[in-house]
Amino acid sequence: MNDIRLYMLQSGTQKCKVHDIKMNQGIGIDYEIPVPWFLIVHPKGNVIIDGGLAAEGLADPRGYWGDAVDIFQPVMSKTQGCVAQLAALGLAAEDIRFVALSHLHSDHTGAIGRFPNATHIVQRREYEYAFTPDWFASGAYARKDFDRPGLKWQFLEGEATEGYDLYGDGTLRIVFTPGHSVGHQSFLVTLRNRGPILLAVDAAYTSDHWNEKALPGLMASAVDTVRSVRKLRALAERTGATVVTGHDPDAWPGFKLAPAYYD
Ligand SMILES: [Zn+2]
Repeated sequence: MNDIRLYMLQSGTQKCKVHDIKMNQGIGIDYEIPVPWFLIVHPKGNVIIDGGLAAEGLADPRGYWGDAVDIFQPVMSKTQGCVAQLAALGLAAEDIRFVALSHLHSDHTGAIGRFPNATHIVQRREYEYAFTPDWFASGAYARKDFDRPGLKWQFLEGEATEGYDLYGDGTLRIVFTPGHSVGHQSFLVTLRNRGPILLAVDAAYTSDHWNEKALPGLMASAVDTVRSVRKLRALAERTGATVVTGHDPDAWPGFKLAPAYYD
């Protein structure tokens, strides 16, 4: 029996425009992107990667996320919140040991503080930036998601954490991929049967970003963004990993979503 599983989940979609995702392309054209997140069930403790949008925000989206809802309009029901979806898989909030965060944009922070036993893993520079974002990035951060008392945090330190192996068995390695945000990180998951799966998250929104045909509509550094894509491409080539892009309406439906899983 194989007791390590990767579940792919989705907290609805966001309606936006193509140019919000692909800089200077498809100006004004409607686009709808999935909001993915992930769960790894592991004998040493379960980890959530990201966690989608906060379900609490749905009661008053503008009050919760501010004017960002004019650009990225959530299309989601409460049952698509991460706690509810884990419950549907038979997992209680206490069953989560880690919440690993690619970055702290609000469509990735819906799991923070919802799991009482969880240590939250993030890049230190992302955490610090999220409290003092520059004007162009401030709409992407929902401070009420991550500014909560009593949270357990584990801060990773940029290049020094390259390849950080969460379980020490190679199942989940963290790859520092700044650019889209100052402290973005991606995840290389290696499964016994399925092999390596590279979760690029927002280091590459879609296959166009992966294939160097598009820059993200929002980023902290174009130079870091394109270098992080190069780094991930080299990693995927070296490992033969299947690549999962971050908000890809074309590629995402090709993956098995929970309750199905990869092992
Ligand atoms: Zn983002």
